[in-house]
Amino acid sequence: MKSDGLTSDLSRWIEGIIKSFINESPENSLGYETGEKAWAEPLIGFSAGDDPLYQFYKSDIGDFYWTPLEIFMKTFLSTKATADQLAVISWILPQTEATKADNRRQIKYPSERWARTRVQGEEVNNKLRRYVVSALREKGVKAVAPMLSPSWKQKESEHYGFASTWSERHVAYASGLGTFGLCDGLITSKGKAMRCGSVVATINIQPTLRPYSNYHAYCLHFSEGTCGMCIRRCPAGAISKVGHDKIKCRNYVHNVVGEFVKRNYSLKSYGCGLCQTRVPCESKIPSQEDCE
Ligand code: SF4
Ligand code: SF4
Repeated sequence: MKSDGLTSDLSRWIEGIIKSFINESPENSLGYETGEKAWAEPLIGFSAGDDPLYQFYKSDIGDFYWTPLEIFMKTFLSTKATADQLAVISWILPQTEATKADNRRQIKYPSERWARTRVQGEEVNNKLRRYVVSALREKGVKAVAPMLSPSWKQKESEHYGFASTWSERHVAYASGLGTFGLCDGLITSKGKAMRCGSVVATINIQPTLRPYSNYHAYCLHFSEGTCGMCIRRCPAGAISKVGHDKIKCRNYVHNVVGEFVKRNYSLKSYGCGLCQTRVPCESKIPSQEDCE
């Protein structure tokens, strides 16, 4: 990948359209009459389509997992491309202060704002995916948002249990935006209370530097042998010193949380996010002082 003026102009342009969509568009809405925003100022990173990490993910997670080239070729059947002609655009959509403040107070179920970010908020994320794809296509660039592909599916990984053909958090890790915590959330410079998205495109762009050398670098449990506050925060007992029990988590969020959210907020939404709030890594990369 080249590091010339053209690629930095392109990365600035892409960052600009993503930020202006989130900061200025009325589409970024939680669905309240006040027009309250679903997401705060985003983070953006880039990775190369031929980054060896993508091949590693496939061998580690399962053969069903797509490399950027695979999802590109599934989308543009008659186009010849090579992995080095592609780049992946990744973004982090941090939860707003209002949403985090509400969820910090919760001990068993998500707040209404948090539940809305999983429905209305994820719809904003989908609109952003479509917007980035169409803005690139208007410039003659072929682009696809893998999560919107009709071929995207949930799968079962031999090593990791519940998995899928494309993981936004793994893309964000590859794109220099954060590392995984004990609870499997991605800890970014704006914390772990967020959702993420990505687009694969035929662009030549400088990858974002990964300022870490292992996938748990920002989690205090792994770096310092301390913290573990997400273990205490989880109402389902799904987090322990050995990690995140996806089966316990899924049972809780689908059965207990799903029912509560339907009854109290009239929403079809899962995910409690308690392990993402009122923890040292909620809104930043934590340091030891944050859990003393
Ligand atoms: S709360 Fe502590 S142990 Fe859990 S992911 Fe965050 S830093 Fe790691
Ligand atoms: S999402 Fe909720 S149930 Fe799942 S690990 Fe986090 S706190 Fe526990």
